[in-house]
Amino acid sequence: MLFVISGPSGCGKSTLVQKARKQIKDLQFSVSHTTRKKRPSEKEGKDYYFVSKSEFRKKIKHDEMVEWAIVHGNMYGTARREIERRTAQEDLVLDIDVQGAHQLKDKFRKAVFIFILPPNYQQLEQRLKKRGEESVKSIQDRLRTAKKEIRSYSDFDYIVINDQLEKAVQELASIVLSVRCRIEVRQKDIGPIIRTFNVTKRDYHE
Ligand code: ADP
Ligand code: 5GP
Repeated sequence: MLFVISGPSGCGKSTLVQKARKQIKDLQFSVSHTTRKKRPSEKEGKDYYFVSKSEFRKKIKHDEMVEWAIVHGNMYGTARREIERRTAQEDLVLDIDVQGAHQLKDKFRKAVFIFILPPNYQQLEQRLKKRGEESVKSIQDRLRTAKKEIRSYSDFDYIVINDQLEKAVQELASIVLSVRCRIEVRQKDIGPIIRTFNVTKRDYHE
């Protein structure tokens, strides 16, 4: 199953995904490609694959990106291989912007779309400043973009309000666990259980 997580920069997507993954087994993270500069806290191949603009354009040209977008002046995208290789076997979570989420909505109708809301605009601004990994201009860009992105919430299946961190983590984890209990997802586990009951036609008629 594919879980697509989106919401304005600074709303807490990475924090929530990281914490939910510690609680939930077998939830893999899709590592995106970006032309943005690496932050001091980030690791190549773990947080992103950091590539040049020409490398990124080459990947688009060769149809290697399943979705991509320009966000705050940088290119971000998910490699087709990243998704196709992994979702058949495991649950994969994508942390992407709303433009990318819209592109995936048409391509992966069964995917689960989750939007993260900050408690309010002021808190979002505080969080971006507190994170302290961007310039003043970059923070302003992100806040301006947030004003456009925020209305996209209505295109998503689930909304997590990231006010109290631990509560929001529980909400995200609950969404993943509830999707895993859907009948179509559970089908492969159900058959062997039912077969142990050796149900025959006679059992139905008695
Ligand atoms: P995103 O991935 O959406 O850009 P981050 O996960 O990097 O956002 O979070 C932005 C900042 O807000 C980080 O410094 C993070 O520690 C902080 N943060 C995230 N969730 C909360 C929360 N519920 N309460 C307070 N601070 C939070
Ligand atoms: P940041 O620079 O803060 O890591 O990310 C900026 C924005 O880019 C965030 O909204 C994040 O979700 C988005 N983003 C990260 N990876 C991708 C991706 O592969 N595709 C798209 N469309 N957006 C991405």
